[in-house]
Amino acid sequence: MKKILIIYTGGTIGMQHDKKGALVPFDFGKVNEQVPELNHLGCKLTHHAFSKLIDSSNVTPAFWIELAQTIEKNYSKFDGFVILHGTDTMSYSASALSFMLENLAKPVIFTGSQLPLGAIRTDAKRNLISAVEIAAGKVLVPEVCIYFSHRLFRGNRSEKFNSAMFEAFQSPNCPPLANVGVNVDYNHDIIAKPNKKKINCPH
Ligand code: ASP
Repeated sequence: MKKILIIYTGGTIGMQHDKKGALVPFDFGKVNEQVPELNHLGCKLTHHAFSKLIDSSNVTPAFWIELAQTIEKNYSKFDGFVILHGTDTMSYSASALSFMLENLAKPVIFTGSQLPLGAIRTDAKRNLISAVEIAAGKVLVPEVCIYFSHRLFRGNRSEKFNSAMFEAFQSPNCPPLANVGVNVDYNHDIIAKPNKKKINCPH
């Protein structure tokens, strides 16, 4: 059974309304209660929440270093990584990580959402479930990617272009690595191949 580490850094995806209606980060350790589908994906999930959850407008290079180090420390223990991140600067973080994590041989998939996990019409659940499914899937995608609204993008070829639609990201210069409909349709020709000589070294 594949082991996936979900790293929660902040952003809309992990927010919920408190009793007064204000948006506050929710206890991410309880994500399986909120998204019970995660128990049925056939993989073992472990969660790690950053001690300081941030809106992604506050991302800094120090944040990227913490994220890369979290992956580096856990690299040998897990088969894949899913990073929950605010959407506003997700493409910047995915680009930075793609250059920091050299010789990657495991999937690192960023995702987030336009609506909080607790909202009725939320896109958070489906984005999270599909990102985990791809990270734990049979087809290896050893790249830093963004999964958002049915499409898996190469992280450093993506951009957020819409803040009102669920289809918030695009990749004008590179086709999606996968399209998710009834099946996950991978674009095998363009998915990177791991460098077998350096396979265990993520940096
Ligand atoms: N401002 C939020 C962020 O980027 C928006 C979001 O998560 O979608 O953290």
